[in-house]
Amino acid sequence: MRKNIVAGNWKMNNSLQEGLTLAKDLQKALNGKTVNCDVIVCTPFIHLASIAPELTSIGLGAQNCADKVSGAYTGEVSAAMIASTGAKYVIIGHSERRAYYGETNAILKEKVLLALANGLTPIFCIGEVLAERESGSQNAVVEKQIRESLFDLSVADFGKIVLAYEPVWAIGTGKTATSAQAQEMHAFIRKTVEAKYGKQAAEDVSILYGGSCNAGNAAELFANPDVDGGLIGGASLSVEKFLPIVEAF
Ligand code: PEP
Repeated sequence: MRKNIVAGNWKMNNSLQEGLTLAKDLQKALNGKTVNCDVIVCTPFIHLASIAPELTSIGLGAQNCADKVSGAYTGEVSAAMIASTGAKYVIIGHSERRAYYGETNAILKEKVLLALANGLTPIFCIGEVLAERESGSQNAVVEKQIRESLFDLSVADFGKIVLAYEPVWAIGTGKTATSAQAQEMHAFIRKTVEAKYGKQAAEDVSILYGGSCNAGNAAELFANPDVDGGLIGGASLSVEKFLPIVEAF
């Protein structure tokens, strides 16, 4: 079944102490509240094990995982290590990983397989850059990202994926896709999934929107029939900014 989800992506922000405080404060703010979505925070790797015991209703995720199982890969963190902290989610294919760390669709495919093998739910990011949007090739770009990284999965494994459409030109820029642009792309993504895996899989997959989502625009974005929540960067770094987005459902 499709779920509404609001996930925070803390990126490379917050010391361990600051992260712990933020996680505790967010959990406290949610205690006793009924919200109409799953809430997730994706923290830096080193925060995971400390934050896990503090969360009761909030899901915990990492922002990346290695494309290898284990071994001599200095500085890398495996999906198994992430799972061993208690985290249940991992962002894979964020545009910053694609742009700054050379992560290709083929590499991301390996990461997805390892995440799934270790019981983690991948939050798989897709999205076009500004030049691609301006040339009208956004659908082809997003279709290719999905096909090359995800479409060798079984229908059962595809059912474990959460998708996040993040137009790169909207990330951290204050420039949000319009509600109509988000709906149009999300509907296209659902159609693409349907063509490969059938109607039920397309109906069941959660597709989040990411890109300068905030308290002021979340409700309008989430009201679209194919927008199932948000992946939130900047506005996930304070309870005051994040909570209204959670409550936008
Ligand atoms: C993100 O990095 O996933 C993101 C959506 O960032 P922001 O909300 O800051 O645009």
